[in-house]
Amino acid sequence: MMFGLFRKAPSRYSFRVDPAGAEVQASSDESLLQAALNQGLAFPHNCRAGGCGACKCRLVSGKVKELTDKSYLLSAGELQANYILACQSHPRSDVTVEVTLEPDSPDHAVVSTEATIVGLKPLTADILEVELQLATSMPFTAGQYVEVSRFDTHDTPQPVVRSYSFASAPGAESGSDLVRLFIKKVAGGHFTEWLFHAADVGEKLALKGPYGNFHLRPGTQPIIAVSGGSGLAPVKAILEQALRDKKSGRDVVLYFGARTQHDLYGLQAIAEIQRHWIGRFEFIPVLSDEPADSDWTGRRGLIPGHLTNASNAAFSQSQAYLCGPPPMVDACVAALVQAGVDQNAVFFDKFLDTSHKISHEI
Ligand SMILES: Cc1cc2nc3c(=O)[nH]c(=O)nc-3n(C[C@H](O)[C@H](O)[C@H](O)COP(=O)(O)OP(=O)(O)OC[C@H]3O[C@@H](n4cnc5c(N)ncnc54)[C@H](O)[C@@H]3O)c2cc1C
Repeated sequence: MMFGLFRKAPSRYSFRVDPAGAEVQASSDESLLQAALNQGLAFPHNCRAGGCGACKCRLVSGKVKELTDKSYLLSAGELQANYILACQSHPRSDVTVEVTLEPDSPDHAVVSTEATIVGLKPLTADILEVELQLATSMPFTAGQYVEVSRFDTHDTPQPVVRSYSFASAPGAESGSDLVRLFIKKVAGGHFTEWLFHAADVGEKLALKGPYGNFHLRPGTQPIIAVSGGSGLAPVKAILEQALRDKKSGRDVVLYFGARTQHDLYGLQAIAEIQRHWIGRFEFIPVLSDEPADSDWTGRRGLIPGHLTNASNAAFSQSQAYLCGPPPMVDACVAALVQAGVDQNAVFFDKFLDTSHKISHEI
């Protein structure tokens, strides 16, 4: 207890981002990324947990403490050129990094708020729609996600903190402070086992966000949307927001991967988007484990196979938006690029879990 009294206060440093020349304050107990996002800089990022590499930047000057091993994410050239992951680097002096800020990316200030569970609706055997009433508004852009914390004193002294994508466009619900999430059950998962087996309406959670760079980019190109399982959440939100913003003139092909017909959900919402969409809107569900003798007449197998075989001339002009489990996203990105989609026009959000994080201190 005495030690706690004398714990050193965190130091504050100046944190500069070139070539924009933006300068913010960063504390020694927060990551450079957290400091940038808290102060409204559109710093590129996605998972914020050292798993995706989206926040890599070149350390031009200064000292940082790196929390995890970055060598599995960065190339030999990047390591040699002094690249770091901003989400895993705490400042130990004034710091300057070089990275291109994203002019079109959402720049909502990060908000912390309490939320009450007001609805829990099973969508499939292992996907739940969770409706949360927020105590404070959290403006966000469709495609972004929120950090959800639950403090369980029985299990662990640390809160369980997990990321979940908004499953509907901002303000889509009747009360604008109501948000919806689609959450898939993970066997043995700390948060989802509790959510599926013990959580109830009225339960409180802490929310922090919004985060993430997954959002609809401007343009008139056709859209290839790909989602698997609960990965439908941000894709549905993006399409709903485009519809609301009167940006539905673009042609869309939406692939939705699931195991069987019982694992398909949100079909009514997709039909509703399709009905109002001004451009061409094709919906292609793809089932991987549907019994061979069932009445299913749609596509079977895995989505990448259908993308490679699509041989669609419009692919080379398209933008692609993907979300779901990391192996599915990786395989679909490779298939899209092989089918002619420009790698720079491929945007994705991977539902990385805590296991990808190598948590040794350097
Ligand atoms: C940016 C972002 C957005 C996300 N959005 C969503 C979302 O909208 N909906 C959603 O359902 N999830 C989403 N996730 C995943 C989510 O944050 C959790 O990782 C997931 O719910 C598991 O949490 P848990 O506490 O139940 O399991 P944990 O206690 O974290 O994991 C328990 C064990 O299961 C393994 N595991 C965890 N997840 C999986 C999995 N999917 N498949 C196989 N093994 C797994 C872990 O490696 C570990 O061994 C998102 C993740 C990120 C990074």
